[in-house]
Amino acid sequence: MKRKKIVAGNWKMNLDFSQANSLIEGVLKNIDDTKDVVCVFIPSFPYLNSVIEKVKQKKNVYVGAQNCSEHEKGAFTGEVSAKMLQSVACTYVLIGHSERRAYFLESTTQLIHKIEQALSANLNVIFCFGEQLAERKANTHFQTVKAQLIEVLSQYPKEKLDQLVLAYEPVWAIGTGETASPEQAQEMHAFVRTVMADLFSKEEADAMSILYGGSCNAKNAKELFLCEDVDGGLIGGASLVAEDFCAILNSFS
Ligand code: PEP
Repeated sequence: MKRKKIVAGNWKMNLDFSQANSLIEGVLKNIDDTKDVVCVFIPSFPYLNSVIEKVKQKKNVYVGAQNCSEHEKGAFTGEVSAKMLQSVACTYVLIGHSERRAYFLESTTQLIHKIEQALSANLNVIFCFGEQLAERKANTHFQTVKAQLIEVLSQYPKEKLDQLVLAYEPVWAIGTGETASPEQAQEMHAFVRTVMADLFSKEEADAMSILYGGSCNAKNAKELFLCEDVDGGLIGGASLVAEDFCAILNSFS
């Protein structure tokens, strides 16, 4: 298992269909596929199929969903199952995003079940976690992150670690324009690797991709991606502008 460089664009609940098409075309036109960087587009459900069609022939470009149900199938109106995502050739899914935790009150148990569903549909999981501002101020951010990782991932199957991507997203940095400094990101990512080494092994922890998310943009991506333990980014706002997203994709040295 080799550590991958990944840049994933979480479009959240933005863009109409024609804006989504322009964005994807703008990015695909300028993407540099000679670099060994995995690009993941994460649009809203209605656009998945169309984005998947557009990236089909592209090297290192994949499509992810912003959520999946914790149930396999059945009478869950409005939900989308992991198997449905698999059936349209979607290959990634975000789980545990702080907006899902805060606004939809997703619990640890739900996150565990969502991950089980995602793995059973052979999806790659981008698992998000991160502390609140008050926790950073109180200097309890390491404790918080460790607990978030252990409570959800302690039963994660070792043989499926190549389907797991971690995304450290300090809540105080998401959509606020305030980014973690490279030192803060590196310090936390290195810590996350030690937690994963305790849960699994050092070798496996070293091979894991850990993304940074939280107001990462075309200007600050380079210095964040230079950090030894930062393997890319989960990008919100800046993923909605083709030029900015391409600049972030090209920020690895
Ligand atoms: C996100 O929502 O995952 C995110 C990182 O958003 P932003 O880049 O806008 O802070």
